[in-house]
Amino acid sequence: MKELEDRIRQDGQVLPGNVLKVNSFLNHQIDPNLMMNMGKEFADHFKEDHITKIVTVESSGIAPAVMTGFQMQVPVVFARKHKSLTLVDHLYTADVYSYTKQTTNTISIDDRFVNADDRLLIIDDFLANGQAVEGLLKIADQAQATVAGVGIVIEKSFQKGAELIQE
Ligand code: 5GP
Repeated sequence: MKELEDRIRQDGQVLPGNVLKVNSFLNHQIDPNLMMNMGKEFADHFKEDHITKIVTVESSGIAPAVMTGFQMQVPVVFARKHKSLTLVDHLYTADVYSYTKQTTNTISIDDRFVNADDRLLIIDDFLANGQAVEGLLKIADQAQATVAGVGIVIEKSFQKGAELIQE
């Protein structure tokens, strides 16, 4: 999407370790108009795929996922990265190594919110080594749900994630 490419060129900052900082419109401050346009783009791209639900990982996947869910008129579920008193059992879980934080988190989704009838669209902010998406694929597998598509705001195609997920 040209609007996104222009915005990355204008506001993005490349940090050591091939990390792109886009805190002014995606990872800290959020530009709702840009996110809405991302949502329209994803909704249009996956319009023939009979999506029943959007899944993402907190926190930076939530904005584009909600905008996509709004456009497609389907619910949005975000996997939690931290344990919560209100989320203790009946969970699907997967371990995810974070490229930017260099830590492993167990992500989880309540089993009531994803099930075998679902056709899921996975949305996330970045695709680097593919760990976050792979974690969501494992959760979809546990739920016996179908993954109908994966939509990523910024794909770092020089890292191995895209190839891994396409396989
Ligand atoms: P992966 O699991 O594909 O290795 O990495 C995806 C996650 O790592 C994203 O959800 C994002 O939070 C973070 N990430 C990976 N690369 C970058 C980057 O260059 N910039 C930012 N801001 N986050 C990144």
